[in-house]
Amino acid sequence: MLTQPYFPPGSAVISNAPITSRYDTPLNNATKVTIEYVFIDKNHQLRSKSKTINFIPTSLDQIPALNLFLDEEQKKSTEDLHSSQQQYKPVAMYDDPFRVSSHGKLVLCESPTRQECKEMMEYYADLEPWFGMEQEYVLFDPKTNKPLGWPLHGEPESQGKYYCGVGTGRMFGRDILESHYRACLYAGLTICGSNAEVTPGQLEYQIGPCLGVSMGDELWIARYIMERVAEDFGIIVSLHPKPILGDWNPTGCHTNFSTNEMRSVDNGLMAIEQAIENMSSKHLEHIKVYGRDNHLRLTGEYETGHISVFSYGVGNRGASIRIPRRVVLEGKGYMEDRRPASNIDPYQVTTIIMKSSFNYKTF
Ligand code: ADP
Ligand code: MN
Ligand code: MN
Ligand code: MN
Ligand code: MN
Repeated sequence: MLTQPYFPPGSAVISNAPITSRYDTPLNNATKVTIEYVFIDKNHQLRSKSKTINFIPTSLDQIPALNLFLDEEQKKSTEDLHSSQQQYKPVAMYDDPFRVSSHGKLVLCESPTRQECKEMMEYYADLEPWFGMEQEYVLFDPKTNKPLGWPLHGEPESQGKYYCGVGTGRMFGRDILESHYRACLYAGLTICGSNAEVTPGQLEYQIGPCLGVSMGDELWIARYIMERVAEDFGIIVSLHPKPILGDWNPTGCHTNFSTNEMRSVDNGLMAIEQAIENMSSKHLEHIKVYGRDNHLRLTGEYETGHISVFSYGVGNRGASIRIPRRVVLEGKGYMEDRRPASNIDPYQVTTIIMKSSFNYKTF
């Protein structure tokens, strides 16, 4: 049974990307440069809009803000946009892997949760907070409404052979995973790895370590690139935490975290344990921003901790927070918060981790 919304047949049009790329002829001057403004709507869906500028930008302050002045009629038909927001301020810039010939740039725009995140990260800048996020996702074929690689009737062989799987029948979606990886590298993202996950059709990529607010920026752009790559294949990317009910691992976004003190050999492990202790009393506040429908995922089974209990442990994949075994051996490193679901807003997650780890103000 699927919790994923149903896609009526024909709802996805397979793109003809190879044909499009025939028009990607190098421009012989730099007076036509494409900006793809990427912004995040209220439902955490990505949107984007293109503009041509007449120079190659080298810094953010050269990029004009995107204006979406909506009249009343448009506001109704686009009500999922942040209605109060009409000026989209550029906050981060990457190379556009989809428009190479026009020196394209992907420009991420400001969003309300990013503003809060940035303030928090600036407050704690001296701690040099690093984050690394493991974005899991499930690919769906809209022609069958099944995860990629699933049979039309019934279910595939039970999980076991799919995690880090190699070979036909054990790995599904290699083309998408590979295209996304390469496009992220081209864009300049700190993508540090990828693998096939436990459920067939479930995959993961890892971004990080990234400093402060840039964690959220990079993950949102990596998600944008994933949506664009999946469009080319006519495949749907589900970030639902439990898209398939039953004996299948759910989908998360483990968030790894460290500060300069945690990374230092002197008292790294002590600093990690202190932060975990501070976080333990704020479990419910964390859960509030750790993803919609996360209760379907955090059941205490399938390598998760239960949603209503905080726990931590060394090398324990059933804990809320895990300290990797190597970190204990070395006495320094990072922790892994395993609670965040695949559909989180990384700005909110990194904000609350800072907030509760260091007892921010009166919180
Ligand atoms: P797992 O064993 O949990 O599947 P992965 O290899 O998938 O681990 O992901 C490890 C993550 O930890 C990556 O996102 C990486 O960027 C992040 N990471 C590594 N070192 C640090 C660190 N010192 N601080 C924060 N994050 C880190
Ligand atoms: Mn128009
Ligand atoms: Mn992982
Ligand atoms: Mn994983
Ligand atoms: Mn993990």
